[in-house]
Amino acid sequence: MKLEPLIYEISVPGRCGVRLPEVDVPTTDLPQDLLRAELDLPEVSEMDVIRHYVRLSHLNYGVDKGFYPLGSCTMKYNPKVNEDAARLPGFAGLHPRLGIDETQGALMLMYYLQTWLAEISGMKGVSLQPAAGAQGEFSGILMIRKYHLDRGDGKRTRILVPNSAHGTNPATTSMAGLEVVELPSDENGDVDLAALRAACDDTVAGMMITVPSTLGLFERHMLEVIEAVHGCGGLMYMDGANMNAMMGVLKPGEIGFDVMHYNLHKTFSTPHGGGGPGSGPVACNEKLLPFLPGPIVAEIEPGDDEQPPLYGWHMPEKSIGRVKAFHGNFGMLVRAYTYIRENGGPGLRDVSYYAVLNANYVLALLRDTYHVPYDRFCGHEFVMEGRWKDAPGIHALDISKRLMDYGYHPPTNYFPLIVPEALMIEPTETESKETLDAFAETLKTIAREAHENPELLHEAPHITPVGRVDEVLAAKQLVLCCVPIPDWAEQPPTLSTQSA
Ligand SMILES: *Cc1c(COP(=O)(O)O)cnc(C)c1O
Repeated sequence: MKLEPLIYEISVPGRCGVRLPEVDVPTTDLPQDLLRAELDLPEVSEMDVIRHYVRLSHLNYGVDKGFYPLGSCTMKYNPKVNEDAARLPGFAGLHPRLGIDETQGALMLMYYLQTWLAEISGMKGVSLQPAAGAQGEFSGILMIRKYHLDRGDGKRTRILVPNSAHGTNPATTSMAGLEVVELPSDENGDVDLAALRAACDDTVAGMMITVPSTLGLFERHMLEVIEAVHGCGGLMYMDGANMNAMMGVLKPGEIGFDVMHYNLHKTFSTPHGGGGPGSGPVACNEKLLPFLPGPIVAEIEPGDDEQPPLYGWHMPEKSIGRVKAFHGNFGMLVRAYTYIRENGGPGLRDVSYYAVLNANYVLALLRDTYHVPYDRFCGHEFVMEGRWKDAPGIHALDISKRLMDYGYHPPTNYFPLIVPEALMIEPTETESKETLDAFAETLKTIAREAHENPELLHEAPHITPVGRVDEVLAAKQLVLCCVPIPDWAEQPPTLSTQSA
């Protein structure tokens, strides 16, 4: 494979990218122990640097470059006005240690965002602290745990998790020191009610349910599920990472959910990928308010006709504590605030209408070509199989890799686990009909290729800068530091820090 040169390789001794002004203050020598001769910094011109990084950026793929139907991740277009707002110097330059008298604007923004997120979810309170969806889940489950312990009920140690849940749900449960009880799905992809009822007893702390499920489906017995869990004294957690499917249509708090999280970096269009940055606010009803992670923003002095209220920090009385240093990922909060204000209530409802419409449209175009195991009206995404009986040897991975040749980011692969060779497709509301038509047409072309010329798929991708990587080796011999690249293909580097 041909790789871009490292910036060190285009270095020329003596070349320089900046011209510093004449020194107009007295000079002193730097302490010798700060000078490191071995640093070997690249010597390059400004143009070298610009071209180097722009070239690298072109090798990358992102929502600003093309369609990105990565299921469950909501890779929708992030309006640039969000970026303008987040870069306003008063926000971007804030230091987290500033006092409340210097940060009333930022606190007001956070207070409004808390209030709107409570409104959208039908919940009573919100904490903006969690820095990711998974951390929002973790906070919510700790709140449930503390709620039971606070009532003096120490035997509730089990959390029910349907097998169509997002993988973070069982992980969260274990991290919180509770036991995962996996519930089967019925043949329609809904929770198996008989199994649920059999599992409900006085050791159940609660249930975590992903809505829509990772099959992209809305649970059809939702009210019975909630009733069964509440009936045995458990609380209901909703994984709301994909509120994109229901904003302005369904308020989880109104149908009985006790606590949930949002993914601002999905539903509220703050850019994400490659591990961050994220924001996973947690929202809860009256019962759990005292347990919210904190501090949260509160009105500490009411306003009147002349004065706005004074905002400050409030630690809920039985809080599970802090889950993040300072006040969450503030830049993400500014973007989400901007997005909500830009759209308004009706706009957010339209976001969900179009997200669901687009997913159902692509599903309708593809259901005759690909097998869709739970084929019914879907939410913001759907799951189909990447395999055919009459195309032996073709896997979901081959289809995804081939999509890259056509300029698309692959869908989510091999998830959920209950669908063999799963391809999970989330088109999002920001894509046009032309894009969706072209994408579906490409998937049909690939289906034809899979039957007529399977090698094309097995060897894909053909046109990307890096071909098919050895994913097993990459996972087993994780190399996190920079080593000379050309040798990789022949002999994997052996580093003492490698994980086994
Ligand atoms: C993305 C996602 C999560 C996890 O969110 P992170 O911010 O990646 O931690 C949890 N649940 C569902 C349903 C998701 O789609």
